Amino acid sequence: MAAVDTFMQRIATDDRWMNDASCRGLTDLFFPPPAERPQARERREATARDVCGSCPSNERCRDFARTHHEYGFWGGESEDERHAAGYRLIAPIGVRANIS
Ligand code: SF4
Repeated sequence: MAAVDTFMQRIATDDRWMNDASCRGLTDLFFPPPAERPQARERREATARDVCGSCPSNERCRDFARTHHEYGFWGGESEDERHAAGYRLIAPIGVRANIS
């Protein structure tokens, strides 16, 4: 799916579930800073996973991220976990670029 197709699909998607998101205001926890080290990523994602664990939007969030090939941590799932589950990133880099 081309990036423009993904973008147009997202515009047409019902995203009202985001209003109930437990991660509101915690963006830094769900998206990595530049040049994040693996150990720091593990710690950040563990904390994000805890937040997702009690979020009422968890299932819809995970489905949304999978469908829209999102980057970052969504619905209790990291980019690597989504990628391994068959929901590929549009432009994978690093290790994920070598997984077919
Ligand atoms: S499941 Fe996690 S990432 Fe998704 S809305 Fe809830 S807290 Fe945010």
